[in-house]
Amino acid sequence: MSLRDVVILGCSSQQPTRHRNHGAYLVRWNEEGLLFDPGEGTQRQFIFANIAPPCVTRIFVSHFHGDHCLGLGSMLMRLNLDKVKHPIHCYYPASGKVYFDRLRYGTAYHENIHVIEHPVEHDGIIHEDDTFCIEAYRLEHGIENFAYRVIEKDVRRFDQTLLNQKDIKGPLVKELIAKGSLDRHGHRVSLDDVSFMQKGEIFASVLDTLPCEGALKAANGATVLLCESTYLKEHEHLAKAYLHMTAEQAALIAKQSGVKLLILTHFSARYQEESAFAKEARQIFSDVIAAEDLKVIPFPKKMG
Ligand SMILES: [Zn+2]
Ligand SMILES: [Zn+2]
Repeated sequence: MSLRDVVILGCSSQQPTRHRNHGAYLVRWNEEGLLFDPGEGTQRQFIFANIAPPCVTRIFVSHFHGDHCLGLGSMLMRLNLDKVKHPIHCYYPASGKVYFDRLRYGTAYHENIHVIEHPVEHDGIIHEDDTFCIEAYRLEHGIENFAYRVIEKDVRRFDQTLLNQKDIKGPLVKELIAKGSLDRHGHRVSLDDVSFMQKGEIFASVLDTLPCEGALKAANGATVLLCESTYLKEHEHLAKAYLHMTAEQAALIAKQSGVKLLILTHFSARYQEESAFAKEARQIFSDVIAAEDLKVIPFPKKMG
């Protein structure tokens, strides 16, 4: 199977710590490198993670608070320096266009890369091709903020043993795909007799929000949900006041949404140990990992 994992480039909230850089998350999936919310220092975190920045194909900014976007300008400049040939698609809340422009052109540089902007104005599909469909859902954070949901298209997989049994190979496979069925040695063989549809996987990022409808829509049935949990339950009043969530609230969203794996992140600097977040969430939802800088988290294995 092709590579599919989440690289935690940083997992702090507004204030970084000695061990936690400002947030940034790279999802490596098929041919794509999806970079979510590049905070300050993202470029250097790529070096620590031993990953070459040109793998990035799309950049998503949930909202324009500094900890989610101050690394955008330097990442674009880095990709420029690396003479990246493929286009870099950038998705961000349309109301923050002025901030995007400032970040993109914050300093003097000669831009050679091909940046394609996709200002997001409302909930729904923001991109679709043969491999992926990407959706955005509005969150509740006091500033326009979107959750992103990346849905891999279902893929038809052939069973080689069954193909051999029916004596179907080479051009006959193509014919079967085109016609849906064909006759072999006096028997009719349909596509479903020798293949099955493998369900596509779903990744969702829900960063900086109160628990809300948009978070649930983005997370619904996700293979991996990357979710903020700035606070622990003991500080739930702060989470409410600053429009964030606790680990428990993130776990409730994962449970309600039928998520496979929950990754908690965006931790307040007041806490030393990331493990406390996983511990709190685990009371409600067992498949949880607390992010740590430079941790590489593979997608959970497919069931079939
Ligand atoms: Zn934040
Ligand atoms: Zn924020």
